[in-house]
Amino acid sequence: MPSIQQLLQGFEAFREHYFKKDTALFKRLATQGQKPSTLLISCSDSRVDPATLFGTEPGDLFIVRNVANLVPPYESDGRSYGTSSAIEFAVRDLGVSQIVILGHSNCGGIHALCNHLTGEVSEREFIACWVSIASDAVAPYLDQPRQQAERAAIHASVENLKTFPWIRERLASGDLTLHGWWFDLAAGTLSVVSEERAEP
Ligand SMILES: [Zn+2]
Repeated sequence: MPSIQQLLQGFEAFREHYFKKDTALFKRLATQGQKPSTLLISCSDSRVDPATLFGTEPGDLFIVRNVANLVPPYESDGRSYGTSSAIEFAVRDLGVSQIVILGHSNCGGIHALCNHLTGEVSEREFIACWVSIASDAVAPYLDQPRQQAERAAIHASVENLKTFPWIRERLASGDLTLHGWWFDLAAGTLSVVSEERAEP
């Protein structure tokens, strides 16, 4: 695992082998701003790296990462909502045309939720509360292979996206599609969990 020194060396390598080869891209991104077509909501897990998985370049993906790639339901009560504010900016300001929820196998966040639902007491301050967003969706799958709970949580996040009024509008008009995907770390495969688009 890289140390701080190695990370800084990595940045030097990026400058030499990536940045200098395509300075026009970075100049364009700096002067014209970003115009990504995709909002990707993925887990903070270090093993799930969207740019590596999808072969994307800077400017391609607007990414929100949180524990267990969860979307909370729409709430407008003046409290601080990090994930919801990123979703709002991506949809209302950047005008993305697709939202992908990317879940994965061996997810520690979903594991914590399953433990919480089976009554295990955690000494952590924030995790159980956060992952409880998916409690109702995951509860029926506690006895099933963990993949079922992970997939149920992805589906719940796609459903929660539809509670945001401006997402519902864009979904109805055909300007936005919603996608839930599950990445299997060991197998290196990707499968579709859910898909939402306007009826033709
Ligand atoms: Zn995870």
